[in-house]
Amino acid sequence: MIVHKFGGTSLGTAQRISSVVRIIETSLDQQPAVVVSALSGTTDRLIAAARAAARGDDSVCQAALSWLGEKHHSAAEALLLATFPECRELHGFIDEHLERLGRFLHSIAVLGELTARGHDAVACFGEKLSAAIVATTLRSRGISAQAVSSTDLIRTNDRFGSAIPQMEATRKQVRDRVLPLMKGGVVPIITGYIGSTADGIPTTLGRSGSDFSAAIVAACLDCDELRIWTDVDGILTADPNVVSSARVLRELSYEEATRLARFGAEVLHPRTIGPIIEKGIPLCILNSFNPADPGTRIVQSPSPQRHLWPAIVSATGLQLLRLRSHNGPWQLRMATTALARLDDASIPVRMFSQSFSEQGINLVVGDQDAQHSVRLLSQGVGGSPSHRVYALDTIEQVATVSVIGLPGDRVYGIAVRAFAALGKREVRVVAVAQEAAEDSVTFCIPAEDVADTVRFLHRELGLENGKEEET
Ligand code: ADP
Ligand code: ASP
Ligand code: MG
Repeated sequence: MIVHKFGGTSLGTAQRISSVVRIIETSLDQQPAVVVSALSGTTDRLIAAARAAARGDDSVCQAALSWLGEKHHSAAEALLLATFPECRELHGFIDEHLERLGRFLHSIAVLGELTARGHDAVACFGEKLSAAIVATTLRSRGISAQAVSSTDLIRTNDRFGSAIPQMEATRKQVRDRVLPLMKGGVVPIITGYIGSTADGIPTTLGRSGSDFSAAIVAACLDCDELRIWTDVDGILTADPNVVSSARVLRELSYEEATRLARFGAEVLHPRTIGPIIEKGIPLCILNSFNPADPGTRIVQSPSPQRHLWPAIVSATGLQLLRLRSHNGPWQLRMATTALARLDDASIPVRMFSQSFSEQGINLVVGDQDAQHSVRLLSQGVGGSPSHRVYALDTIEQVATVSVIGLPGDRVYGIAVRAFAALGKREVRVVAVAQEAAEDSVTFCIPAEDVADTVRFLHRELGLENGKEEET
């Protein structure tokens, strides 16, 4: 028994979905269950629409609804022959969901507020649509498949936006609902990212959480292998879209993979490893654009002979929010208040650092969250300038670059080597964050410098492909 997970990058277009269907088809003898993300870009649109509804911006909501309609209907149209009996049903399903979404957005607009629960109620629409499209496409090719909503499988607490699964109840539901399908030769197509509380209220597991959903399903099924399919050949020493000569890390331990994911390597959600570690289920990160490549294999005990390299993780599309004491002394409470507000709204903070001399903190958030973050951070601390507790300003277009040593490699001193390399190139560093260890460091730099900086660091740290034999 295996579990496949296909990310938004593998489900971007009808052509991509056809490749996914082929991958599932060729694994039928291994009894697959499938977890899917939303089609690429969908969840960003949904969240943007929910936030726009709360501020009464109807034009953004309407634009999102038509974008979603076009994206899903055109994929369905290209994948299914109009003569296929379920074709009309699928288009009807899409319309019905978009109408329901429109009603949700309308209620948010009436309330004038986006609660965490409302956020999740909207954010979960993407996976419902993608699971229906993939399942119908499989059936149209003669493969028995059924869309399964993970609101019926993954029981969570009510921490909307990054809900915590309750494994015992989840295991029972997965085994009761998914196993009979698989035993009957039906491929379950399960919505990633979503769960529900004991009262059946939809929750989400955090952005990019479908990897985590797949790991939960894999653990509950005691499956033999989890395969996460994406658009690159596994986990590499740097994002291959930035460094074409990056090396694939062919074999990693669970701890090493988690470490890279925690630093923001987009390719793997940091909570993925938790559920599979106890049962020792191997995890393969594979490329749906290049299925023959062996990818990265993540296991409990990797071979001691393998070669490890440090990795460079970079992220763009970020803004740095600077909070400074406005009138009076800076208190740590201001930092905790700011972080709690963003956390309550499930806004991921990619990096934060504190400056005692400047009396303030720097918070790095995604572009899509920046405007909302500024609004949240301004609430209750705004008012007239003389009453403001802290001043807030934004530096747009920044990027983060982390250099991460992996235990077993020459980790100590990697931070110093990274500083030295950046100094040599005279890169402008806007902020720095470092754990009390010398084995990793994160820099916030201007976005325009990120690609050159990552390539330069990759060379300077001796990570170029071809310098050493890959083992
Ligand atoms: P999916 O939609 O399949 O979940 P993601 O966008 O979440 O895909 O993750 C895949 C992307 O992760 C790649 O396209 C790549 O740009 C990025 N990435 C960042 N760092 C790394 C890394 N070290 N190794 C591989 N991919 C990386
Ligand atoms: N669709 C969700 C997101 O974009 C979950 C995922 O892709 O893993 O965050
Ligand atoms: Mg992902």
